Amino acid sequence: MTQTSSGQAEIGVIGGSGFYAFLDDVTEVTVDTPYGPPSDSLFLGEVAGRTVAFLPRHGRKHHLPPHRINYRANLWALRSLGVTQVLGPCAVGGLREEYGPGTLLIPDQVVDRTKARTQTYYDGEALPNGQVPNVVHVAFADPYCPVGRRTAVRAARSSGWEAVDGGALVVIEGPRFSTRAESLWHAAQGWSVVGMTGHPEAILARELGLCYTSLTLVTDLDAGAEHGDGVSQEEVFKVFADNVARLRNVLFDVVGELPRASERDCLCAHALDGLDTGLDPA
Ligand SMILES: [Zn+2]
Repeated sequence: MTQTSSGQAEIGVIGGSGFYAFLDDVTEVTVDTPYGPPSDSLFLGEVAGRTVAFLPRHGRKHHLPPHRINYRANLWALRSLGVTQVLGPCAVGGLREEYGPGTLLIPDQVVDRTKARTQTYYDGEALPNGQVPNVVHVAFADPYCPVGRRTAVRAARSSGWEAVDGGALVVIEGPRFSTRAESLWHAAQGWSVVGMTGHPEAILARELGLCYTSLTLVTDLDAGAEHGDGVSQEEVFKVFADNVARLRNVLFDVVGELPRASERDCLCAHALDGLDTGLDPA
């Protein structure tokens, strides 16, 4: 195992190998956490003069379904390398006809429809290292980093991709896709896109005081928003593959434009102010 330490990466990207595979110089590091191992090794590289840690959310062989991802380990591992800002690209279904395949939407809200995922560090349970986190309640009215969101929208638009600024991402448990009735219900609530991994990534990042920005790529219209046979995995993978290069370019532009850790003054940076968490993520 490569020795790891805080200060190795400023920015984390939780996405597939498509986002770093072409970098010349990537260092693979294995990180263990009090919550068990993350989805895979972390891959350290440099993008636009910034140090970045890439983590394949589903593992490099895509062997982890959304409900079996160790989200706590993933965010903790990034934090332990010194990451303060996280970018979370993911594939989603569009809940409105105008959000067809190839749409990039930067959500400003999330709706949790998952059922069996651990979504807090602050549960009062002792960790193997002896630390006992307190039971605290972290504000989550605005789940995404406003600075990260702004940066993502600007970077996409200046590359010629007219990103949708805002909307609610509803996260379902999966791994199955929605039924037509569920999909129609989600759309009727006014929610914009539906995915399986956006939660609890954002809240766990917030609980560690990290900035988190979700970049959702629409790969299909969800069951109730189209008139065909419903979503298929083949269709989703194809649209994602078709768009991964330009999504990667946008992500790398965002990386270059995010503020330095010492300049962070967003609500995420202050999420733990005044709270006694009992936890030292260092
Ligand atoms: Zn922030």
